[in-house]
Amino acid sequence: MWRVVAKGGVTVRLELVPYIYNIEHLFPAVLYVQYDASYPTQSIHLCPCGCGMPVPLPLQGAPFPVARWHMIQSSSGPTLTPSIESPSRCRSRYWIILGCVSWAH
Ligand SMILES: [Zn+2]
Repeated sequence: MWRVVAKGGVTVRLELVPYIYNIEHLFPAVLYVQYDASYPTQSIHLCPCGCGMPVPLPLQGAPFPVARWHMIQSSSGPTLTPSIESPSRCRSRYWIILGCVSWAH
């Protein structure tokens, strides 16, 4: 069970893109989301710890059988479930909930 601690300061907004792997420069605190046939299929964002590592995550519309994250949009920002583990050396674990990063310990 994760203990969720709100750290504050990192607010994530959603930006729709045609293809996540074509983005020349990723900005922090932006969740880039690719839609295919009206389903969100892929996303990428920079690790919120500041290490600069891109974190690609397949979303619920991605083809079976990859592990997928469920994304909900709201006026406050995106929510992703389950929690995220950065592939970077930082090993950051966090949630993105209503556009805010909450660190999981
Ligand atoms: Zn990191």
